Formats: sequence, structure tokens, C-alpha cells
Amino acid sequence: MNRNLYALLSDRFPADRSAPVLELADGQQHAYAHLEAMAGRYAALLRQLDVKPGDRVAVQTEKSPNALYFYLGCIQAGAVYLPLNTAYKKAEVSYFLKDAEPALVVCRPESLAEIREIAQAAGVAHVHTLDSDGGGSLTEAAMALAPDPEVEPRSDDDLAAILYTSGTTGRSKGAMLTHRNLSSNAFALHDIWGFREGDVLLHALPIFHVHGLFVATNTTLANGSSMIFLPRFDADEVVRLLPKATLMMGVPTFYVRLLQHAGFTRELAAHMRLFISGSAPLLEETFTSFEERTGQRILERYGMTEAGMITSNPYEGERRAGTVGFPLPEVEVRVADDSGKILGRDEIGVLEAKGPNIFKGYWRMPEKTAEEFRADGFFITGDISKIDAEGYVHIVGRAKDLIISGGYNVYPKEIELVIDALPGVVESAVIGLAHPDFGEAVTAVVKRSALDSTDENAIIEATKEALASFKVPKRVFFVDELPRNTMGKVQKAQLRETYKDSFT
Ligand code: ATP
Ligand code: MG
Repeated sequence: MNRNLYALLSDRFPADRSAPVLELADGQQHAYAHLEAMAGRYAALLRQLDVKPGDRVAVQTEKSPNALYFYLGCIQAGAVYLPLNTAYKKAEVSYFLKDAEPALVVCRPESLAEIREIAQAAGVAHVHTLDSDGGGSLTEAAMALAPDPEVEPRSDDDLAAILYTSGTTGRSKGAMLTHRNLSSNAFALHDIWGFREGDVLLHALPIFHVHGLFVATNTTLANGSSMIFLPRFDADEVVRLLPKATLMMGVPTFYVRLLQHAGFTRELAAHMRLFISGSAPLLEETFTSFEERTGQRILERYGMTEAGMITSNPYEGERRAGTVGFPLPEVEVRVADDSGKILGRDEIGVLEAKGPNIFKGYWRMPEKTAEEFRADGFFITGDISKIDAEGYVHIVGRAKDLIISGGYNVYPKEIELVIDALPGVVESAVIGLAHPDFGEAVTAVVKRSALDSTDENAIIEATKEALASFKVPKRVFFVDELPRNTMGKVQKAQLRETYKDSFT
């Protein structure tokens, strides 16, 4: 049997292919028949260009229906789809192209000259363009061809995609994802989130990342239903189109922005079946305000590029703020210390995971790959966590953000929770900075609700009451906004760089 993700998904497309798959901001609808024709044309083009199964295809384009169909065409033709964050600049793209050696690069028309130059240096055979409306040389060439319905035979273990990690903790690594990694995750999420006939997903995420590309898209296709497909998140647009949706997936920032929008009311959200959040921690404050406003509890789940989704709060059952729920079916998780010793309930260590969702390894980094796996096949996520008595997983932070101050381990999240709850504070990020006596000094970076709503002294005094003295910040800095990337992740590496000389 063909285990190609596209074959498995298209088995579940609606029998009536005139059913919609996309609805665009202007109300225009695309049918499944159109998706198949476009994916088939792009697959035909890849074959014409002699892009072979297993060859990488790198893509740095704006989000558009054709960009989505091109992803599907790549999967269909057995190529390895490699999306790149649209924010990456020339030097970064150059690194990815040299690393991945794609056979084809697809870029925005405005960056063609630049991409041609670096593609040539990386030995890439073909460069095509795709613009924000889905036009450009790629689509022109594809439209000249008849759709090729053949789905390349692939086994579970063959690569479907390489996604570079977000680079939050260091240089991005290429995670090799197989057809089975993606299909198992899509079907598991489809089941546990109760996808059903008539579902319409509001899709405002970028499609260069696991969340928007796989979690949102593959579950919808596995359901044979449709998405409201927006080029980007815009609170006005979401408020306008929400009445047509039944579920929405977003990063925490989306929900924060919706709560700031006067049009986002209980009535507007009343018909919604489900709101899902992930990619970065959802503040308890956001969860609670959202419930107060809408009566609905956001379902938070947790995953990473290397693993797709790992845990999820329950659809039926209690969704608990500050937790990421339970492992997905067929996924096992455990918490271990650095030496690999497995820890008990409520003990803090690094989360390890095993299952059909776990990637095949980092592209061309066999040593790095070996370091991140235990002998029994568990992947070391690098996320500090604990599993409570009821089995809910809590993400406490990242191992790389752990602060060691005066010989003590300090988990930033514990301090952030205390600071976030103080009057006058919107949110905080706690980091460790080089310090001559302590090794690292606990330092808080805080966003205030107003300029004089609190000050350094008030925060230090308040944390002294709540926390052991080695956890109390030695300094507090104030910012207008915490630096975040497009996925809503706080860029702690950037903060450490900004304040690096504070104690030396
Ligand atoms: P890099 O690995 O390059 O440093 P990254 O880990 O940020 O970057 P991604 O794979 O995009 O790259 O993100 C996965 C990480 O996001 C997880 O390891 C975890 O730290 C964080 N994350 C995802 N979902 C959640 C969540 N619900 N709560 C807390 N953290 C989350
Ligand atoms: Mg990571």
C-alpha cells in the first residue's frame, strides 16, 4: 500500500470533489477538485524538471492557496518539502540552501536576483518564483501542463519534509520528517480533537512552520473539510470571518490580540466548537480572560518541529490552564534527569518522548541526532517539565534557559508566574546573565501595564516574599514589548544579548 501522506489524505477527501477546501478573505471558494488539479500540475512540473523522489524543494514565499497546493504537489511527487520562514534574510537562506542542497528553490519575485545568486553558489539546478497571489514562473510553468494524478509510492520511513527549527535556542536544525511522522500525527489530532463533518477551520497561521502547515492543514484535509485561509493574522479579519468558522488554531499572541478587540464578544464566539493554542506557552491570564469573555476554555497543546504534536489537553474532559495535557495516542512521554534516570510524578526534569511522530533525525547531523536520543528510542525534547499526579504535563521552560545561580538551579517560569501576577505587570521574561560572584544572576525583563504602574524595587520586594532568596531577581529591566518571533515565542537569547554586560 502506498504510504505517501498525500495518498492517505486524499483517501479522505470528500466523494463530491466540488465540496470546498478553501474559502478566501474575499469570499471566493476553492473546491477539492481544484486542489487536486493544482497539486497534480505542480507534481507534473516537478517530474518535468527532473526533481526526483527524495530531492529537496526549498520554498520561501508568502502564504497563498497556490503555496499550499505546491506543498501538496511536492508531497504527491515524493519530493522533500522544505519551507523557510519568510523573515529569513539572504545570509540565512544561503546557509539553508548549502545545508539542504535542494534541486529546486521557489522564492518571492522580489528576491529572485538574490536567491539566484545564492542558489547558484549552492549548486541548485532550478529557481522559480511564486508571488503572494499565487502567480509567478512556477505557476505559469505548471499551468501549461496537465495534472498528473500519480501519487509517488512512498513508504512510512521515506522523507516528506525537512523543517528547520525556529532557532530560539541556537542555530536552526533541519528536522527530517517522514510520511509516517506526518500522517500519524494528522490522524491522531483529527480524532482527539473531534473533527467532524461541517467543520470549518479559521487558518491565520503562517505555513512555513509545523503549526500552520501540518497541524492545521493536514487535520483539515484528513477531515475532508474546509478552511478559511487568511494570508496573515489580523484581528479585524478574524472577527469578521469567525461566524463562518467552527474551530480556530492560533499561537497565544492571536488570543491576546482578540481579547484586545472590542468586537470579540461572547456572542461572536458562542457557536465555535473549539479554540486551540500552541507553539509557545499560553499565559494563565490569557486562558482565564478568554474564558471570562467567551465562556470557552482554550485547548492548549504542545509540540515541536522534531515531533509534531506530543501532548494535548483533552477535548472532552478538563482543559487545565498552565498545562499541555496528556500524550497523544501511541505517544509515550516521561521526565528524566540529565543522566537519563526516569523521575517520578511532580519531579522536574527534561521531557522525553517516543512514538510514530518523532522525526528521523537532524539533516546531515548524525552526531547531534545521536546525542538527542536515548538508547531505547526516546527523544530528548530539551523542554523542562513535570508530569503531575493526574498525568497532566507541565512545561516549565527550556533546558537552555535554566539559570544556575550560586550553584542553584533556577527555573525561570516559576519566577515569571510570580511577577506576572503582580499589580502593574503585563508579562515578564526571566533570564540568567553572567555575574562575577553567582556565575549567573537572575534577571527579570518586564512589560508594565503603564509607565509608572510598578518599579524595580516593588518587583524585587514582592518576589522576596514569595520566593527563596536565590530566585529573587538581582535586576529588573522594563521594556515596551518582549521580543517575539512570528510564532509568538519570546526571544530570550536576544534579551540575554541586550543585557549581557549588566553585572560584569
Ligand atoms: P530551536 O529548537 O531552534 O531552538 P524552537 O524549539 O523554538 O527552536 P520549534 O520547534 O518551532 O522551535 O518550537 C518547539 C518548542 O516550542 C518546544 O520545544 C517548546 O519549548 C515550545 N512550545 C511549543 N508549544 C508549547 C506550549 N504549548 N507551551 C510551552 N512551550 C511550547
Ligand atoms: Mg527546539
